[in-house]
Amino acid sequence: MIVRASAVVTMDGPLIKNGAVAIEGNRIVAVGTMPDLAWISEGPVIDLGDCALLPGLINAHCHLDYSMMRHAISPPKSFTAWVRRINALKRSLDSDDYLAAIRRGFAELRKWGTTSVVNIEAFPELMTRLGPSPLRTWWFYEMIDIRHRITTEDVVAGALAFFQNRGGTLDSFGLSPHAPYTASLSLYQLANSCAAEFTMPLTTHVAESREEMAMFRDAAGPLYEFMTDLQRPMTDCGRATPFAQLWENGAIDGRWLLAHMNELTDGDFSLLASIPRGGTPSIVHCPGSHRYFSHTPFQYRRLHDLGVNLCTATDSLASTTSLSLFDELRTLSATEPWLTPEQLLRTVTVNPARALRRREKLGQISPGALADLIAIPVSGSLRAVHEEIVANRQPIPWTMIDGQILP
Ligand SMILES: [Zn+2]
Repeated sequence: MIVRASAVVTMDGPLIKNGAVAIEGNRIVAVGTMPDLAWISEGPVIDLGDCALLPGLINAHCHLDYSMMRHAISPPKSFTAWVRRINALKRSLDSDDYLAAIRRGFAELRKWGTTSVVNIEAFPELMTRLGPSPLRTWWFYEMIDIRHRITTEDVVAGALAFFQNRGGTLDSFGLSPHAPYTASLSLYQLANSCAAEFTMPLTTHVAESREEMAMFRDAAGPLYEFMTDLQRPMTDCGRATPFAQLWENGAIDGRWLLAHMNELTDGDFSLLASIPRGGTPSIVHCPGSHRYFSHTPFQYRRLHDLGVNLCTATDSLASTTSLSLFDELRTLSATEPWLTPEQLLRTVTVNPARALRRREKLGQISPGALADLIAIPVSGSLRAVHEEIVANRQPIPWTMIDGQILP
């Protein structure tokens, strides 16, 4: 099959005018101008007309479980207040509500051009009732060992038993100790060794709020008090920042996707600078969620200048208003106007592909990559295609995942 569009945005080289992509099965086999691909005589030609054809977008941090919570919690005065509120909301919902939320979340992601999603799953037992995923999905098993008092070994054994013999062709699995305030260092270390053995990716929330920083660095503040009330052992508090605590104890390494990293001290930056380039963890920034919580300004430029692999994601609808990565890119652009539209697009294509160890397989259009593609109508001039893509506010009219055109 050949798919033709007025512009092919490969994210792997210059834009191709009057471009075409040849697909065999679920793979891209050739990319070029329409005349370049004239030698391919077999199979149908699909002409998308005045469209930009680009890789399907990758959302590197989402919680589909909470897709029913849009506007359910007004922006809170404190992060701890929000945690208490969402915990209460979670207790009021049953498994049918969560299944409906996951399906609704998938539909909204697809509507806005996301073809791959990192989904942190708090209720993995629901998956037996879900069927194959409609998008390429990394199901990250959320691991918490502070509150439920189950041993870390049991948590990991449960996760691995669950992942065995599961999943459709679009499903992959990973492990996600929730955050340093809810997951012990030994749980992080066990997740590390399991992920190495089963070649699974790893993600966690780190340094999300001022209250998390106060808890670890100062042994003080609302989160510290809340966790003390939950009888979390607090001997790791009053020592180091959340990031330093994890990094210096070997709980995380360069394989990890770290969501948020909003609260970083100069010491954290020195630590990041001491890591050889390419060895730092990937960082996932969620601009809408960041704005909702009024976190400390995200230090995008400093992280970018250190060569950190930066991804943009939505987080859940409990703390942002849409699952459109285009909305998130525009929010990011408002605080980081120096980022070019092409740089913005890299944070939802090639960068998250690299974070998931799927470089050259996802997030770009090149021979050998998986055929996950979207098309966006653009004006005929092609002078500012990347700008037009980032400005997109229309549902995506054409999507292909794994070589299949979605109906
Ligand atoms: Zn999250």
